[in-house]
Amino acid sequence: MIIDCHGHYTTAPRQHEGWRSQQIEAHAAGKPPPPRPAITDDEIRQSIEGGQRKVQRERGTDLTIFSPRAAGMGHHLGDATTSEAWAAACNELIHRVCSLFPKNFVGVAMLPQSARVAPTNCRREIDRCVNEYGFVGINLNPDPSGGHWQDPPLSDRYWYPIYEKMVEHDIPAMIHVSASCNPTHHTTGSHYLNGDTAGFNQLMTSSVFKDFPTIKFIIPHGGGAVPYHWGRYRGLAQDAKLGLLSELVLNNIFFDTCVYHLPGQELLAKVIPVGNILFASEMIGAVRGIDPETGHHYDDTKRYIDQLPLSAADKARIFEGNARRVYARLSRVIEQQAATAG
Ligand SMILES: [Zn+2]
Repeated sequence: MIIDCHGHYTTAPRQHEGWRSQQIEAHAAGKPPPPRPAITDDEIRQSIEGGQRKVQRERGTDLTIFSPRAAGMGHHLGDATTSEAWAAACNELIHRVCSLFPKNFVGVAMLPQSARVAPTNCRREIDRCVNEYGFVGINLNPDPSGGHWQDPPLSDRYWYPIYEKMVEHDIPAMIHVSASCNPTHHTTGSHYLNGDTAGFNQLMTSSVFKDFPTIKFIIPHGGGAVPYHWGRYRGLAQDAKLGLLSELVLNNIFFDTCVYHLPGQELLAKVIPVGNILFASEMIGAVRGIDPETGHHYDDTKRYIDQLPLSAADKARIFEGNARRVYARLSRVIEQQAATAG
């Protein structure tokens, strides 16, 4: 089985994000939001069949660990109440996709975070998504202010209510920012990669892994700048007398393969142990074009991994085994959903 651990519902029926705009406008005007729009199963089926499912078929991948559109989370908009209603709507839609395509999608939750609001209100949504929807992980935004970094670092006890829930349910978090509202940071060109890099550095220098020895984080987009600068982080850990970087982080931190060229994948696989790499493409996502140098889509990351000088067993770990280990509930949910599919 080939498991893509990083996909978002970027093709959701238009009225879904339309309601979000209305909700934020109503909030600004001090009015209640309009009722949520009807979205039919057929509309969801169409949006997936012509989108992510089509790409899965073309590229030969089987299952996507699927979450709401990341840039659409917009935790810097509205307040805690609007974030709660929006996260609930987005997660419900992911659950419907997973119910309609139980062999091809397993859900991950977006959280109702808000800038400068302690994330205790996220606990209830985590419980709901795990217990009622069978979701296997969460996306945790380290910067709900959208590029202004106004909340404490991930090392701070501010985040511990979420970490406690992650450990309780045995679910990992992907560190994933949302849209940037700071014009100095392009959402997908720099803010995402900054978020990955900053999140890693915050966790590496923290006592989070001492306080939560079994907690697991996925740093997406190939780990931002981290694998390329692994020597810098090794040196920083050494100077700060934190011990060996590998011993410090590799039981708890994993990297996905959303790197859109072969040399980047080669570097990732050379620097990061194979047990810490999870296959991912983030299709259909930020980079949708075809690379004129290869004639293939930039985000067709399976092609790069197929070309790496690794054994078949190591590739199987990247494509499947590591995801089943890091997302501890995944194997059970795959079986349950397959059973509902008949
Ligand atoms: Zn993403």
